[in-house]
Amino acid sequence: HSKSSGKGRITWYDDELDAQRTRKQAIETGIREGLKRGEFDVVYQPIIEARHGTIASVEALVRWPRRPEGELVPDQFIALAESSGLIQALGQFVLRRACQEMGDFPNVRLSVNISPAQFRDVAFESKVADILAETGFPAQRLELEVTEGNLIENPERAIAAVAALKALGVTIALDDFGTGYSSIGYLRRYDFDKIKIDKSLASQVDRDPQAAALVAGTVNIANALGLAVTAEGVETEDHVRLLRLAGCQYLQGYYFSRPKPLHDVLGLPAEKAAVRA
Ligand code: C2E
Ligand code: MG
Ligand code: MG
Ligand code: MG
Repeated sequence: HSKSSGKGRITWYDDELDAQRTRKQAIETGIREGLKRGEFDVVYQPIIEARHGTIASVEALVRWPRRPEGELVPDQFIALAESSGLIQALGQFVLRRACQEMGDFPNVRLSVNISPAQFRDVAFESKVADILAETGFPAQRLELEVTEGNLIENPERAIAAVAALKALGVTIALDDFGTGYSSIGYLRRYDFDKIKIDKSLASQVDRDPQAAALVAGTVNIANALGLAVTAEGVETEDHVRLLRLAGCQYLQGYYFSRPKPLHDVLGLPAEKAAVRA
């Protein structure tokens, strides 16, 4: 590398970083304004009871379809909402909307994702209690999904938050299991009710014997600890068969339904929701 070409590269990167920063700020402003303007929606994906093929619960997932610049997927905007502090407002919007809509379906439970930045707020559990009181949604029907990220940064705070939420009657699931580091340690430290095996692991059961062995082992560990298991990313009949065989109590994925407006999901014909043995 000549000196001048090296210099050129640095300048190019600087421009690129500036462009990234500007784009990031534009999305943050967009989230703030979008919340005020009602640009966000909540869609729901059914979680199927593996043995009976019935809908046990639905997972609420945020969408931003009315973004003026074009739709972004959650993986693109959640991280920015987190780093800018807007995740509190966005998260409360999702929880409130989901609790309101679910009031019409008394036999189905509700799962809502909680990001690490929401846990950081020591008022988080009282905000959850407020939203439950305001919407009349029973705490016993609510499950909050946390990831390893919620637990790593401040374990003391996470333990307190989990305990306070469980005292309300809310259940807690550890999401994206199998993607992180020492997840088994977390199972001892926290009072979870459920493990959700990530789709990157669960969806390999039909082609990767090691993935199949890890799923079976996870189910055994979970059950020994009194935890239920949901498999994510269930896309084919083979997945259904093998994940049931491995002992997963709940199944979730495109095989049953993509995330949709609530009335479309809970209006699902019984034969579509039924698991074929
Ligand atoms: P997650 O909580 O693990 O949610 C499951 C994701 O997998 C969803 O993606 C869902 O649409 C997708 N999925 C479900 N079944 C299948 C399948 O069979 N195959 C494949 N390939 N994908 C499937 P989505 O909706 O794009 O959300 C991505 C992530 O963004 C979520 O992962 C969650 O971490 C986060 N997220 C979404 N909504 C919220 C929210 O309201 N609050 C927070 N904090 N995070 C959210
Ligand atoms: Mg989730
Ligand atoms: Mg997940
Ligand atoms: Mg995820």
